[in-house]
Formats: sequence, structure tokens, C-alpha cells
Amino acid sequence: MSIEQSLLSRSNESCELCSSKESLRVYEVPPVEAHADKCLLVCKTCHAQLTDENELDATHWHCLNTAMWSTTPAVQIVSWRLLKRLMSEPWAQDSLDMLYLDEDMQKWAEAGLVEINDEATLDCNGTPLQTGDTVTLVKDLNVKGANFTAKRGTAVRGIALSSNPAHIEGKVNGQRIVIISAYTKKS
Ligand SMILES: [Zn+2]
Repeated sequence: MSIEQSLLSRSNESCELCSSKESLRVYEVPPVEAHADKCLLVCKTCHAQLTDENELDATHWHCLNTAMWSTTPAVQIVSWRLLKRLMSEPWAQDSLDMLYLDEDMQKWAEAGLVEINDEATLDCNGTPLQTGDTVTLVKDLNVKGANFTAKRGTAVRGIALSSNPAHIEGKVNGQRIVIISAYTKKS
């Protein structure tokens, strides 16, 4: 049986994260091994965000509140990684607190994170930033796609690192935005 066939039968022909039946494809969970146990069947929307083609849409990922209870290890791993990246959302933090991984699973989950962020994300002083840190903006930022300027001096709490080390993600004015890490200072 091909990987795709085994995933289709495991998943009941639906996205293993959000249950969508649209445009399903295989997502190889990094570090990649071509084996069905290390892959997920996901829809186009989930895939684009998993591979950083599109920004993470926090609203879409409320599906993780269900997916994280899957009995498929690869689904739990990917849910854990996504929740970790969405930690500035209180619901994601709550779910992450409830998601228990045993030691081997935890290692696997973190292996993927290290691979995504192998280059350090630095603030304007060259201080490394971590997920969950609070930073202050060191200049006014025009937020693309939203009608406001994030003012210099604004504190951004509970930031998340991005797959791009030059960017962090955080909430300003109740909106989740991407911020250039060099325009922030760790508080
Ligand atoms: Zn999906």
C-alpha cells in the first residue's frame, strides 16, 4: 500500500487536523522519513500553513483542540508544534498545557522545532528571543493589511517565533501580526 493509500484509510479520507475533505495531500512531518507513521493527510489550507506558504491563521487552528486528542502520534506531534507557535493565543496555551506527550514523543516534537528555528531570532540588541517573551517595539510600524500603526514603545506579550528568523509573531491591537525582530527589544 502506498503512503497516500494508508493515510487515506487511516484518516477516513479527511484532513487529520481540521477534518476537511477538500484537496487532500500528504504532509511529511519533519524531520522527514518516508513512512506513513511519519506523515499526515491534510487539506490544502492546512498544508499551505504547515509549509509556511501562508501565514498561520489562528482561527483556522481551533481545529487543533480536537486534533490534539488523536491516537495517531504524527497528528499529536504536529498539533503540539502548531500550538507552540500559536502560544500568544490564550486558548492555544490552555490546550498545550493539556497535551501530554511521553518522552519519545516530546523528543520528536522538539526535533521539528529545532529544525524550523535553527537560526536564532535576535532583537535590535542581538539578544536571542524565545517563544513567550515580551518585547517592546523600537519604531513605529505600519501594519500591512490592517489599518493601524503599531506605535514605538508598544509592548507585545507572549510572542511566537516564526520559521523565518527575521520575523516574530505577536498580538498588537488584538490582531496577530508579523513583526521584524530587529525592530523589537526584549523586555
Ligand atoms: Zn485541514
